[in-house]
This record gives sequence, structure tokens and C-alpha cells, in this order.
Amino acid sequence: MIYFRQLFDTISSTYTYLLGDLTQREAVLIDPVREHVARYISLLGERGLKLRSVLETHVHADHITGAALLREQTGAQTMLSIYADAKCADVHLHGGESLRFGAETIAVLATPGHTQSCTSYLWRDRLFSGDALLIDTCGRTDFQGGDAGMLYDSITQKIWPLPDETLVYPCHDYRHKHVSSVAQERESNSRLSGKSRDEFIAIMSGLNLPMPRLIDQAVPANQHCGRVEESHGA
Ligand code: FE
Repeated sequence: MIYFRQLFDTISSTYTYLLGDLTQREAVLIDPVREHVARYISLLGERGLKLRSVLETHVHADHITGAALLREQTGAQTMLSIYADAKCADVHLHGGESLRFGAETIAVLATPGHTQSCTSYLWRDRLFSGDALLIDTCGRTDFQGGDAGMLYDSITQKIWPLPDETLVYPCHDYRHKHVSSVAQERESNSRLSGKSRDEFIAIMSGLNLPMPRLIDQAVPANQHCGRVEESHGA
């Protein structure tokens, strides 16, 4: 039996995902938010789950990860992309790996473009797409090594070939949407559907978005897995 929860941080509109194998009693968390670590620990405790790994989809600019706190409190391993420049991680992912928890398998897909370090995770029929593919939109590409052409290639080459019915669970949604599917996004994503690579690059270069409020604190802290104290001395 499996366990699945989508959790939400109202301040940063971040989705966090808890995936569990209730038979073998192991779980993983994807993109935990520092302020909610106690809640995650109590959810794990309620189901008798041991946290095996904390997976990041990228180095976030809008919230601080709970990875280091969770590692201290549960012994979980922290994992993120080799391109994240985060020596704090226990496991540095390249893309193409398979991760295990209980009897379950997660496929790691490198999907750079929003940032260099963006990684998506495929578990059963669910894709955790980070800030690469969002519902009816996509992540911005104007900081942290972002590159619109690279994002277009990641989405069209790694995500569009997945089965139509694959569910898409993003890292953020600002309009109260919870889940989409690969078919729906391939057919009707307003930035990507029917757009050439050049058209997509033009759309992305014209966004002119303000910088995230927390970027100067969040990025260095997240390169230390959310250890704010260490990021100050770095
Ligand atoms: Fe992001």
C-alpha cells in the first residue's frame, strides 16, 4: 500500500510531496519547506513511516528548504542535482538514476532550464516537475543559470514523451490548481503548446518579472540544505 500527500506552503505557494510505502514503512519528501518540518515529522509518525530521503527539485529562490533539519531529526539522506553547487547534499544526482524507498522506485530526470540544477522525479504515474513545467505555464529562466532554450529542450524531450495520463505535480501554483497531466500540458500549456523553440525563447525573454523577495537569503541557505547559520559564514 502506498501513501501520498500534497502539502502546501501558503507564503511561497510551494507544494511539498510526501510519498510513502506503508508496507515497508519508508517515505521520501520532495521539496520540504523549513517552517513545516514539525508537521512533516508528525505526518510521518502518524503513519509509522521512516523518512529515507529528502529530494529537491532545485535550489529554491523563494523559500528555505527543510532538508538539513529533517536530516538532523530523522537521519534522512538529502539529494539534489550535482549542478546545484550544494556540498551539503548526501547524494548528488546526475539524472538517469533510480532511487528506492521501500519497494518503490523513483526515476530521476535532469530537466534544467529554470535553473541549472532542475531535476524532475517520476514515481509510478506521477511526475514531480519542480519549476520546469508548471500548470499552464513554466518556471522563469532569468536567474540561477536559467536558460529558456534549455528549458524548452528539457520539457519537449524529457516530459512530452511520457504517457498522456502521467500526472504532473509542480513545485508551485499561484492559482489554486493542484495537478495536471502530460496530455493536458502538451496540448494546452499557454507558453509551450504549438510554440517553436524560438517563439518560446521570445516569450520568456519578454516576461520582465520582479526578483523573488527572498532570493538573496534563500539561495545561499539552500546551497547549505537550509542551514541558515552556515550560509551567513559562507
Ligand atoms: Fe524555483
